[in-house]
Order: sequence, then C-alpha cells, then structure tokens
Amino acid sequence: MDKEGIRDLRNYVGGCFVEHDGSEWMDVLEPATGERFARLPLSGSNDVDAAVEAAREAQPGWAALGKDSRADWLDRIADSLEVSFEEVAELESRDTGKPISLARAVDANRSVANFRFFAGLIREQEKETFEMEDATNYVVNRPVGVGALITPWNLPLYLLSWKVAPAIGMGNTVVCKPSELTPMTADLLMRVIDGVGLPAGVVNLVHGDGMGAGSPLVAHPGIDLVSFTGGTATGEKVAESAAPAFKKLSLELGGKNSSIVFADCDMEKTIAGVVRSGFLNQGQVCLCGSRILVEDSVYDEFERAFVEAVEQMRIGDPADDSTDLGALISKDHLQKVQGYVDIAIEEGGRILTGGTPCLPSGFEEGNWMAPTVIADLPPESRCSTEEIFGPVVTLHRFQSEEEAVGIANGTRYGLAGSVWTSDMEKGKRVSESMESGMVWVNTWLHRDLRVPFGGVKDSGVGREGGRWSLGFFSEAMNVCLKHD
Ligand code: NAD
Repeated sequence: MDKEGIRDLRNYVGGCFVEHDGSEWMDVLEPATGERFARLPLSGSNDVDAAVEAAREAQPGWAALGKDSRADWLDRIADSLEVSFEEVAELESRDTGKPISLARAVDANRSVANFRFFAGLIREQEKETFEMEDATNYVVNRPVGVGALITPWNLPLYLLSWKVAPAIGMGNTVVCKPSELTPMTADLLMRVIDGVGLPAGVVNLVHGDGMGAGSPLVAHPGIDLVSFTGGTATGEKVAESAAPAFKKLSLELGGKNSSIVFADCDMEKTIAGVVRSGFLNQGQVCLCGSRILVEDSVYDEFERAFVEAVEQMRIGDPADDSTDLGALISKDHLQKVQGYVDIAIEEGGRILTGGTPCLPSGFEEGNWMAPTVIADLPPESRCSTEEIFGPVVTLHRFQSEEEAVGIANGTRYGLAGSVWTSDMEKGKRVSESMESGMVWVNTWLHRDLRVPFGGVKDSGVGREGGRWSLGFFSEAMNVCLKHD
C-alpha cells in the first residue's frame, strides 16, 4: 500500500504472493468516482508458465486426497470467506460500481454459498453402477487435470467461486484469470485460500488483460480444460485456441434475453419483476431481460406503469444502502451503451425515459447512465437484437403467442428468458418453445444451484451448475468387471 492508500496486487503462484515478471501495471479504477484504488500487474507468458507449472506439480497429490477431504477444504474456504463477508461486499461494490445492498445479497452471499454447495454435493456423490447378467460396470469420475478459469467483471467473485469450487472439489488444480477491470475480490479469495492453508499450487492466480495473460493461459500446453465466462466475441477466440489441443471447454457467453408479458399476468408483480430483470446491476447481468415483449391489449397500461417504476429507482452512491442503481463498469462501456441509444434513435426508436448520462452530485468523474426505456423499434433492429449489457431496455408489442415466441427467438443468442402469465400451461408451453438455456415463469433469476445453467446458440457451449459442473470438471471412466 503506498501513501495514497493504493494497493499493488500480486499474482498467487504455488502458495505465495509473487511479483510479476515485467514492469507494466494497469490502474484499477472505481467506476463510481473514476478514482484509482489499486494497481494490477499486467502479467505475461512467463507468469502464466510459472502458475501452470505450480498447478501441474500440485495436481497428483491433490487428486489423491479423496473427495471427502477435498470437500472439507471447500467448507474451510467457505467459513473463512464468510468471516470476510462485509469486506467482499465493500470491495465488490467499489470495484464494480454496483450498490452495496446488491453486493451483499448477491455477490458476497453467493460466493460463500458456492463453496458450501459444492462441498455438500461432492460429499454426497455416489458411485454409479450398471449391472449386466455376467458383469458389473462402475463409473469413476477422475479429475481432468489443470484448469484455466477465466471470468468477467460483472459478478467477479460470484462467478470465480462458481468455477473454483467444483474444479478443485473434483480433484483438478487451477489457474484463475479474473477480469482486469475487477480484480479485488479475486485477490481477497487468494488471501482466504492462503489463510486456511490450502495445499500450495491447488489454486493459482495470474492478473492481467486478455491478450497478455488470458490468451497464453488458454493456449498453454499444460492446460487440460478451459472454463470461460465472458463475451461471445472473446469466446470465439478462446474456442479457436483450445480446440486444436482438444481441451475440455465450457463457454458461458452473452445474452439478449426476452421477458414476455401476457395480458393475463398479475400486472403489479410483473412490473416489479420486469424492472428488476431489466436493470439489476445496471443491466449488466448476462441474464437481464433487455427486450420486453408485451401483449397488445395491455401494452399501453404496461408502458405507463413500467416507465413510472423505472423513474422511481434511486441512482447514486453505491455505498448507500438505499441505492438501487450504481455506475457502469468503465468509460469505454458507457460510451458503447450510449452509442446504442444513438443507434436506437436512428432506427426510429422513441426514448420514453433516460437515454442520457446522469451524474449524481459528487460523482462527476464516474460512469453514470440513466435507466433507459425505448419503444417503437422493429424487433429485428440492432438495439433489439444485439447485447447492450447496460441499463437500456426495448419494448415491443405482440398479438399472439406465436408472434411472441418468434420475436424472442429472433436473435443469435439463447441464454435466458422470462414469461409472465397467470396460465401455467401457457407459461410452460411458451417456455418450452423458446430457444434458450433457462426460462423463468412469473419470476426471474430465481436460482437453485442444482439446476443446469448455460445457453444455446451464440450464448455458449456446455452447462454449469450442480451435477453438470461436476461432470464438466471430471472425466467419467467406465470399469467393467466380468463375473466368474
Ligand atoms: P470479455 O469477454 O471482454 O472478458 C472476459 C474475460 O476474458 C476477462 O477476464 C478478459 O481479460 C478475458 N479475455 C479477453 N480476451 C481474451 C483472450 N483472447 N483469451 C483469453 N481470455 C481473454 O467479457 P467482459 O466484458 O469481461 O464481460 C461481459 C460479457 O460477459 C457479456 O457479454 C456478458 O453477457 C458475459 N457474461 C456471461 C455470463 C454467462 O453465464 N453466460 C455471465 C456473466 C457475463
């Protein structure tokens, strides 16, 4: 820590915090204020080599421990992380610009829960057997080896812990590469892991940007699997690099998700649910419902009440408990989101609210944008089909169930969606017609950690969650014993 309270982060390799092999650094900025509060080492290939080597050395011993001992380690990490609950929430809020209440309820909470959940699931795992008349088959779930875990900036520790816990729980060792924009809670996790005394080399971390650290990590011959969460364009590069070596690959990518509102919905609950799904974390959640399709007969009523509810959200100091909306992650991202509003106007959109930057007093240097609602855009327009990943939603009318499903499926993405109706049969029918990995009926982001999580089309490859994560982070081997 220097005189101004700026921390220099370090990589975590082989159980030690180490300097990177180079002299380049990047400032870590607070999105709300634009102020620097840490420096991130821009690591390169040599740092990646050292981390992969440490992970390879540790892997056989870690795998030999057995699943129950590894599950005990996950619980120890969860207990220690829970002690740092408030620090996790504060760091996440400063690092991402999200409201502290959200950082507590979602980020800090889920990061602890992820370790506990996978500890329990791994302990409960039973050996599968398949009897034949003259033989018995059983399945051994062996570790894959060394994993590269690459994560984005919107839910930093939530997503990193979602990968680390099942990966090491199944006997792999890992090298983490968190987003260069939000490295603070990944650093905290390494301090927790160091503090509980996890065997050296089981979890390693290399800070840096995508080209300098992420790309050599994915391409490294010592990496056996890649679990990547981030944008679709980056996912393409990751897939290109991992495929020739047949690395096991999971890609959790972008989304452009629809919320379908039928006339028979409970309007009050629907407005609250659709506002939450459109704007949680300033619309920077891959699952956010940013295209809202409303049945024609209730469209006008919905539009009025929805805009009113959006305008009631409180934007401001992320550290204030009563804040609903914080800042966007970076100046570049703010520009991208504003660019989409300009495109919407060119495409014939009508801005019902927002559309401009808004600077809460005292936060003039931060990245702020008023929540924005746009109507009258054709469903196939760019703003209605491309991922904006900010506080911008578009409203569309539909006449029939078929038309709603057609609009919902009219994007390259297929991550999530929600359906709002009092008719459960219709809710199920519409959900099952959607080209999507996940659909919620009369709710949104209602997560059970046991269910499959992931997308279709350009939203990704593979599934995480519950036994799907355990399957991805292991190799199922069949042993067949012939009877006498
Ligand atoms: P991004 O793709 O820019 O970066 C993600 C991570 O990849 C970062 O750590 C980055 O440094 C790294 N990276 C960049 N280039 C790389 C390369 N060539 N090789 C290896 N690593 C590289 O994404 P972002 O802007 O950080 O995150 C926003 C995106 O993430 C959105 O598209 C959002 O939908 C998506 N996302 C998806 C999910 C999901 O579960 N499907 C969850 C959260 C976010």
